[in-house]
Amino acid sequence: MENNRLKERISDFLMSLLLIDIWKGIILTTKYALFKKSVTINYPYEKSPASFRFKGEHALRRYENGEERCIACKLCEAICPAQAITIMAEKRFDGSRRTISYDIDMSKCIYCGLCEEACPVDAIVETPNVEFSTETREELFYTKEKLLANGERWENYLKAKMQELAIYK
Ligand code: SF4
Ligand code: SF4
Repeated sequence: MENNRLKERISDFLMSLLLIDIWKGIILTTKYALFKKSVTINYPYEKSPASFRFKGEHALRRYENGEERCIACKLCEAICPAQAITIMAEKRFDGSRRTISYDIDMSKCIYCGLCEEACPVDAIVETPNVEFSTETREELFYTKEKLLANGERWENYLKAKMQELAIYK
């Protein structure tokens, strides 16, 4: 018993004296730095790919003729668990129903995607954009104009996303 304890102590002393653990760490780090493929990326210069199912910043879409897709059915407003969506609507001169205002309080949104799933005309959608931090809370109150502008910016991506996910509808 005593012998074993003595051996352990000598071994610990030699390990400390020769900095064995530090050398092991240096060898491991060098091995990964020089010979293994990096698993980290140099954000924001490099970005990892995002699935079409990723739920980021919201956008409102238009049809190709420029008409707004949203028919003001308010399903998105009703289903939103965070009560982040506020819609005001009225009938237009041609009898169709359209929104006067469509606001999302992005500081309340939990990015669940239920609004997108509830929408019968693929009007409200979520883009892959996560780079929309702001300096004030007010900037996170998105208006219809802001959402439509997002839709225009991301339309190509959104078209591809809708095609890809159409089989699940
Ligand atoms: S993603 Fe969810 S929480 Fe955010 S607005 Fe849509 S339904 Fe509401
Ligand atoms: S975005 Fe879609 S679900 Fe929401 S009010 Fe417009 S049509 Fe209805």
